[in-house]
Amino acid sequence: MNTNQRIAIIGCGPGGLTLARILHLHGIASTVFEREAHSLVRPQGGSLDLHEGSGLLALEHAKLREAFHTVARYDDQGARLLDKHGRVLFDHQDNGEGDRPEVDRTALRALLIDSLPPESVRWNCVLRDLVDAGDGRWNLVFDHGNEGPFDLVVGADGTWSRVRPLLSAYEPHYSGLCFVEFGIDDIDHSHPALGKLVGHGKIDVEGDGKAIIAQRNGDSHVRGYAIFRVPLGWVEQRFDFTSALATRDGLVREYTGFADEILDLFRASNDHFAIRPIFALPVGHCWVNRQGLTLIGDAAHVMSPFGGDGVNNAMLDAAELARLLVDHGTSTYAVAEYERLMFARVLTSAKGAADAAATFLSHDGQALTVAMYRSHHTASA
Ligand SMILES: Cc1cc2nc3c(=O)[nH]c(=O)nc-3n(C[C@H](O)[C@H](O)[C@H](O)COP(=O)(O)OP(=O)(O)OC[C@H]3O[C@@H](n4cnc5c(N)ncnc54)[C@H](O)[C@@H]3O)c2cc1C
Repeated sequence: MNTNQRIAIIGCGPGGLTLARILHLHGIASTVFEREAHSLVRPQGGSLDLHEGSGLLALEHAKLREAFHTVARYDDQGARLLDKHGRVLFDHQDNGEGDRPEVDRTALRALLIDSLPPESVRWNCVLRDLVDAGDGRWNLVFDHGNEGPFDLVVGADGTWSRVRPLLSAYEPHYSGLCFVEFGIDDIDHSHPALGKLVGHGKIDVEGDGKAIIAQRNGDSHVRGYAIFRVPLGWVEQRFDFTSALATRDGLVREYTGFADEILDLFRASNDHFAIRPIFALPVGHCWVNRQGLTLIGDAAHVMSPFGGDGVNNAMLDAAELARLLVDHGTSTYAVAEYERLMFARVLTSAKGAADAAATFLSHDGQALTVAMYRSHHTASA
């Protein structure tokens, strides 16, 4: 590839960073523009499991598979489904031999950032707009001024991508599911009974059209979600998020009828709650290729998190786009070919995630969740 070609990547998530890393390994410079002020400005969210053939394959292309072992948690791959009384409906514990190792998002991000030259990530850069330079290249508009022109701008900027409107008129739509995120610090020491309840992996408790998912992260931290099928805005009206105490009490009240030891998850939660309505782009989302622009990861195909494919898709998009850019430069062929392959590849996981979001907490929800766990754990065994 002609190394004078300039590549901008918008978004310092797993997709954008994997792309920058693989390009860097092949001597191709790129700049990652990120709106956050620095890498530790906020915790990056819960634990992610990386899959063979996608997330782990991308790490192999990034020559980070070995370094990944130092942050991966192989012994946290268990899954247990309970009903509201605490009765076990499905239980899969493994002894660390599963092929979907968990990693904390912050650790994955740090691994990727540390593998790049420091100047390739530019913090505090909120992309506001893109301006056509008139020759197939693009200028980027930031608060500090314009940058460019760039031969290729890759939108790796997540669900509410600023790049996507230049390629597609579609917007993510609300799935009907809203998560209230909570966390429990130092669970094994401060709340050993809850530590045992969550075990090594995650528990999913379903009943009365509601659910609680709690998952072990690194450092004895547990991240959980109270999940509701409700109209957008219901959660904000139902709970008083101005006070952690009131939020905890509200959650305990909302789950009246659930076993007391399960409600203890809310009682033990720390002061930080977040509201996460789940949005998705339509299954089969695609666009007509436009010179100098493309999308990877959630910007291209955000889907509900039930399949656990989001980060894996994002990293594989990055690896495949990088391969084509290395071989063919920022040509229309490279980008169009990446898009053609990606549109076809993500269809299955987008459909699976949409089906799961549609049936989760439905009347048959519990039975369908059992079937989903069975197929998931047989498939990955
Ligand atoms: C509640 C929840 C749970 C999930 N659980 C899982 C799971 O268990 N497994 C899994 O695989 N996936 C899960 N996902 C999905 C997963 O988080 C995403 O698929 C994944 O993070 C996508 O990576 P990405 O790099 O495409 O985008 P992101 O991780 O969203 O990164 C985008 C980056 O772009 C930056 N950005 C955005 N706009 C701008 C702008 N205008 N200018 C500059 N920078 C910008 C953001 O700050 C961010 O750093 C979950 C999602 C949610 C909401």
